[in-house]
Amino acid sequence: MEGQDLHTVVEQALAQVAAAPDRAALEHIRVQLLGKSGAVTAQLKSLGKLSAAERPAAGQRINEAKRTLTEAIERRRTQLQQTELDSELAAGRIDVTLPGRGQEPGGLHPVTKVRARIEALFRQVGFHVVEGPEVEDEFHNFEALNIPASHPARAMHDTFYFPDGRLLRTHTSPVQIRAMRATPPPLRIIAPGRVYRCDSDMTHTPMFHQVEGLVIDENISLANLKAMLHGFMEQFFERSLRMRLRASYFPFTEPSAEVDIECVFCNGAGCRVCKHSGWIEVLGCGMVHSHVLQAVGIDAERWTGYAFGVGIERLAMLRYGVNDLRLFFENDLRFLRQFRTG
Ligand SMILES: [Zn+2]
Repeated sequence: MEGQDLHTVVEQALAQVAAAPDRAALEHIRVQLLGKSGAVTAQLKSLGKLSAAERPAAGQRINEAKRTLTEAIERRRTQLQQTELDSELAAGRIDVTLPGRGQEPGGLHPVTKVRARIEALFRQVGFHVVEGPEVEDEFHNFEALNIPASHPARAMHDTFYFPDGRLLRTHTSPVQIRAMRATPPPLRIIAPGRVYRCDSDMTHTPMFHQVEGLVIDENISLANLKAMLHGFMEQFFERSLRMRLRASYFPFTEPSAEVDIECVFCNGAGCRVCKHSGWIEVLGCGMVHSHVLQAVGIDAERWTGYAFGVGIERLAMLRYGVNDLRLFFENDLRFLRQFRTG
């Protein structure tokens, strides 16, 4: 009776082992058969009920069955291991004959492109490109530029201060001061770089880029300044356009002027961008104030000079027809991709 039961158990078990889908399932089957409370183990336990005469033969059969099953399980385990390894290798296989994934070429940021263009144009006419620190002190950012502590212009600058009194430069003008102190005149420099103001809306970002220009020489006049800027604007926009100076005020220049160019969108006819005036304000400039020359120890009787400051994003917006300054800093690839060429 016991022998038949065992035979059935072994037949069913072998079928189960052969059908085990993975090693975890196989282990589960092994425990059910050969574990402490497994089916085959139960058979061994039942030997005690048999007579002494029956016991040896039955014990042998059961051990035989146990060995058969153990071997079958071991074979199946090896088989499954090989299958798993094969599928792992297949999944990780590299087909070297497949075409590449298409490397997308990057491009320069529009602000970087415009900055490079400005630098190239000024280099052509003899300007040196210099840089200065973005963390400045009050002397270079304000005092030497004729903006004493009590000056209302300080409040207009919305300055980021460090606890030790230093600050993030609010304009590139401090580079003028550093250049004049480092090099005796004559001087022809532009100083491009980042500047910082505590301000953010459609036309202001906390960080933006300026280019400062400075010329110190003998017999420099406002006419030189105007001619140079007009030449620059026409080169920059690659077209002839009208330009005008409007009297303005900056602490570090005297006289000072705002520069307008003919609207590049409507050619001066009037449109939404230029608020129907036909003109667009592009930069501020003026003759270097004698106080500034004195602050850096330059003889204001002998030397005169002009300075100007222009926003790089401002020129980029006009050149590319961008209407929101913040687009330059959001790193939206759909926006940036448009500047990959040209
Ligand atoms: Zn216009």
